Amino acid sequence: MLAYGGGWLDRAAALRGDPGWLAARLTDPASVLLPLWRDRCLVDAVRAPVRPAVVDAAGLLAGADETVFLGLDEGRALFAVDLSGRGEGEACELAGAVEAVDVRALVGELGAAEAAVLAYAKGLLHWHRGQRFCGGCGAATVVGSGGHLRSCGGAGCGRLLFPRIEPAVIMLVEAPGEPARCLLARHRGAAEDSWSTLAGFVEIGESLEDAVRREVGEEAGVAVGEVVYQGSQAWPFPAGLMVGFRATAVSTRVRVDGEEVVEARWFTRAELRARVAAGRPLGRIDSIDRHLLGSWLDARA
Ligand SMILES: [Zn+2]
Repeated sequence: MLAYGGGWLDRAAALRGDPGWLAARLTDPASVLLPLWRDRCLVDAVRAPVRPAVVDAAGLLAGADETVFLGLDEGRALFAVDLSGRGEGEACELAGAVEAVDVRALVGELGAAEAAVLAYAKGLLHWHRGQRFCGGCGAATVVGSGGHLRSCGGAGCGRLLFPRIEPAVIMLVEAPGEPARCLLARHRGAAEDSWSTLAGFVEIGESLEDAVRREVGEEAGVAVGEVVYQGSQAWPFPAGLMVGFRATAVSTRVRVDGEEVVEARWFTRAELRARVAAGRPLGRIDSIDRHLLGSWLDARA
């Protein structure tokens, strides 16, 4: 399973709009509070996500900038608590934590679904911090639906703001014909021998397939024909949704943009397997990049 996927939480959309129900969940000792500080997870000494509800839930909630409802885990409510307005030491003390750690740094130690919940919490709290004021009239916004909505309090405005995601496409581009080869790129700032798939944000007015063709054209100068969906990955760093494709090029001539991509070339399966055997990483450990490359390698002997 891809990291940050397979979230098992019941998001309880029909219940989270009820303030009385939410208030009761917040004071229920069985509920779990996940404290975060400026996009980082507050963890205890063994790097398990802290369970401060058993320490001092009331103190934690009183010190929070924002508390949002994430969902129900077998009937038990989970909340994310934002302590970003505090200093790091104070946030740790409130949560009973020893340090604040990037969620991505915990991926190797957590199950995919557990990482999914932390990433969800981080992404939702990040959105709230950037939506305190209405973009239409400038008045302050207030939280609704347990944190899944903000509404403008400005006179005569009432604009509703919903959590945003920013879709990006990521694609493994195959050469036409034989031998089978895929296009990998070396991005600006990446290590000398670091090759990865192409990716980019979807622009307004584009379909996902349009974005695949545009990005491959812009970054590598390669024209693409068929585009086939492979899977998607939540990527709330801070607000992404990665949508993975396999695309077939119509020609093999490469001309990189020199901006985002400094070099791009075609690799056969044998070349990629040799890199793996030599200990070179095949994509990032928590990314759909690795899944796209791995499934292409596994497709044929
Ligand atoms: Zn407004």
